[in-house]
Amino acid sequence: MKYSILAESLNKMESTTKRLQLTQHLVELFEKTPGDVISKIIYLLQGKLRPDFEGIELGVAEKLAIRAISKSSGIAVKKIEQEYRKTGDLGQAATIILEQKTQTTFLVEDISVERVYETLFKIAKLEGARSQDMKMKYISSLLNDATPLEASYILKILLGTLRLGVAENTVMDALAIAYTGSKDNRKALEHAYNVSSDLGKVAETIASKGLKGVEDFEIEMFNPIRPMLADRVKSEEESIEKMGVEFAAEYKLDGERVQLHVEGEKVVLFSRSLENISEYYPDIIEKIPKVISADQVILEAEAVAINENTGEFLPFQELMHRRRKYKIEKAVSQYPITVNFFDVLYYNQKSCLELGYAERRKLLEKIVKEDDFAKHVPMTIVKTENDIEDFLENSINSGCEGLMLKMLDKPYQAGSRGNYWLKLKREYRNELGDSLDLVVIGAFFGRGRRTGRYGTLLLASYDDDTDTFTSICKVGTGFTDEYLDQLYQILSDKVTLKKNPRINSEMEADVWFEPELVIEIVASEITLSPIHKAAWDEIRKGAGLALRFPKFTGKIRVEKFAEDASTNEEVITLYKGQKKIAHDKSLM
Ligand code: ATP
Repeated sequence: MKYSILAESLNKMESTTKRLQLTQHLVELFEKTPGDVISKIIYLLQGKLRPDFEGIELGVAEKLAIRAISKSSGIAVKKIEQEYRKTGDLGQAATIILEQKTQTTFLVEDISVERVYETLFKIAKLEGARSQDMKMKYISSLLNDATPLEASYILKILLGTLRLGVAENTVMDALAIAYTGSKDNRKALEHAYNVSSDLGKVAETIASKGLKGVEDFEIEMFNPIRPMLADRVKSEEESIEKMGVEFAAEYKLDGERVQLHVEGEKVVLFSRSLENISEYYPDIIEKIPKVISADQVILEAEAVAINENTGEFLPFQELMHRRRKYKIEKAVSQYPITVNFFDVLYYNQKSCLELGYAERRKLLEKIVKEDDFAKHVPMTIVKTENDIEDFLENSINSGCEGLMLKMLDKPYQAGSRGNYWLKLKREYRNELGDSLDLVVIGAFFGRGRRTGRYGTLLLASYDDDTDTFTSICKVGTGFTDEYLDQLYQILSDKVTLKKNPRINSEMEADVWFEPELVIEIVASEITLSPIHKAAWDEIRKGAGLALRFPKFTGKIRVEKFAEDASTNEEVITLYKGQKKIAHDKSLM
């Protein structure tokens, strides 16, 4: 397949944010795509080479790309940098530079999607001392044969700056239309995606086996399942209203969610955002097979740091000491954990997703034998507000965040946040009602004690309609010295020369970051703001929403992608919720 077809399509998509138009462009692209190339097209559209859980990263730095453009065009690095500064986008700068070049050389060979994909794959796999030179060779040889437009999209993919704003749902709509003639068939594709977390594989299946193939799609071991998420409730009373007469309550442990795939001695662990995190938990890999009675099983658990002497649960941040590549053995013995199982998704070649909660829990208890390391999450059946309150009290006293409430007869809804699971946290009873997970987009240098580090951070919520990060507050409280050091270190890898185009902020920071790091924030109130861009124009024309008195809770949410941060929709709900409380209070 000619790469020019993809490049032209990307170009059209970049110039619109309208979902209908995007879908139409995608349908046209898919109709021109042979079945054996469709998965590559899907990954490239998302700026990837493989599904996220395989952890294949392109990791090409701007400097290297600039050198490659210079090599293939014969134009000086300085000139390219100048152009880059003007446009703010290296892909676009390359188009302009290479257009100058092709006026003198007319030797352009057609390049194929397969060649681009394979070259990018080789680049991603390169490691070691000479890898930079090799990467540059590969890139410049591609650019040599590319038209300016093609080059621009090769660079955007390489640098991770391709921003089409196409959500996974839009891609699935387009696949359904292109391959089955109707958007109504998206549900089947969604199911396949939820159990495989691999949109490329879903596309390949519909292309080769049609709708039936997608409907028959099955869970595969070591291919993560997208997690089921919970809605929130604020009180025992609301819990009963939503859950009915009798339901399960489990402790909501404050650790890291882990999806375990176990087959004999082979164990692979995935995080909530489906990253392979096996390397951080050698103790789980070693100990868990011994307590499992199943040939093949996919389980979910919360890994929680504990005080070895008292057995008490410790807060989430204790686990962060394990997020390191070296000397992990030392961290394992210094920061011991228990693994607390709460669900089973697949058992001996059969999916368990359709079973009701009560049945899955029974099966789980049969499969996992408890010992000092492996536990079943504490659970009880509740009927009244008093039952809930008692169990909530117990859970908080043993160091948990609150309760998870689960309907007894309901299936596991992979990849969705619904009403079958609810979470009830203690702090929901106070002011704002919930904490927010926000993305660090910028920082201001500190003074006094904070000189040489970031004193204040600029944070954003996620706008999932436009796939952008909208500023919502500055935060400077809640940071201990240790946190300031830790954050400075983590963030120094994310500094960018220019504000990332996905950031929507009028406030100018001293330093801008790639929008990647998510931290947890509490605040006293949400107010209208003429400066911050969250939910702009939604509540009032010409105003956005901002947090008042925000405070860092100490939680760096490494298990979340920036796209998992609190959305503007959630911020609006909290804003309206607080208005309602104020209104109710004024009536009392
Ligand atoms: P939060 O910010 O509250 O952790 P979240 O967005 O990560 O929420 P939710 O679905 O809202 O995800 O809350 C469920 C999370 O709580 C799970 O991702 C899991 O990590 C954790 N958890 C702790 N105990 C349980 C349990 N018993 N059952 C399910 N999830 C649990």
